[in-house]
Amino acid sequence: MIKEVIMAENAGFCFGVKRAVDTSIDSNKDSNTNIYTFGPLVHNKNVTNNLKEKGINEIILSELNKLSSCDTVIIRSHGVTPKVMELIKSTGARVIDATCPYVSAIHKKIKKYYDLGYQIIIIGDENHPEVIGSNGWCDDSAIITKDGCNLNNLSQKVCIVVQTTEKKENFDKVVDIVSNKCSDVVTFNTICSATKERQASAEETSKKVDVMLVVGSKDSSNTTKLYEICCKNCNKTIFVESSSDIPEWIFRNEYINRIGVTAGASTPDWIIEQVLDKINNKSNI
Ligand code: SF4
Repeated sequence: MIKEVIMAENAGFCFGVKRAVDTSIDSNKDSNTNIYTFGPLVHNKNVTNNLKEKGINEIILSELNKLSSCDTVIIRSHGVTPKVMELIKSTGARVIDATCPYVSAIHKKIKKYYDLGYQIIIIGDENHPEVIGSNGWCDDSAIITKDGCNLNNLSQKVCIVVQTTEKKENFDKVVDIVSNKCSDVVTFNTICSATKERQASAEETSKKVDVMLVVGSKDSSNTTKLYEICCKNCNKTIFVESSSDIPEWIFRNEYINRIGVTAGASTPDWIIEQVLDKINNKSNI
């Protein structure tokens, strides 16, 4: 019987995602132009569907030829390569750059050390748009690694950065491996503060509860990391995209007294509230 719900202290929309979503909605308000986001603004269908209803649609690289000076393109918080930015600008469309400042800071570091002759290593998911965008700042020459297992034939001068939503343990592991192989290693722990706070809160909360709900999209890198962290502490960790995914058995199991809730940086408040409402209504807390 659920007696207590513990909401992780830091959860839900981060500063960078909120800024990108607000920028899109504000640009749409007083504009007669078509507003596009370059790719899905966040990895959450609830948010992107909501934007579509407001007339804000997505555009991808192969569709840039349909843009004109009457259009506006919003660069999402993940950022893009310099080449992609130039391509979008060359269409004549107005560009609003909502790249998160934490991501822009990584771009600057990569460019600086690449120009100084360092081999760039990016720790993260090679298919994630943030990593693809960052790699463009060193002419797509970075070695991308998750855990350091593919780091062979390194140059002696190496600069390591990490995807903003990566786990600290992966950063530590790669830095350790590279430090034993190379003589000049420059490291930047570029995991953003929003990620650090959300991961720490998720870890703390998941240690105290019988069931842990992680709210967000399975496409979301940062939400998936929260899920992995919670699984280590609570063997009844459940990934839910919305309140309808909450399994009924958690309300019937007499050994479940405390339930924890966290949410990824791309999960909007209204989805979190629906999850909390459902738990409260079903358990009569
Ligand atoms: S997760 Fe961090 S880097 Fe990514 S948008 Fe949010 S604040 Fe910016």
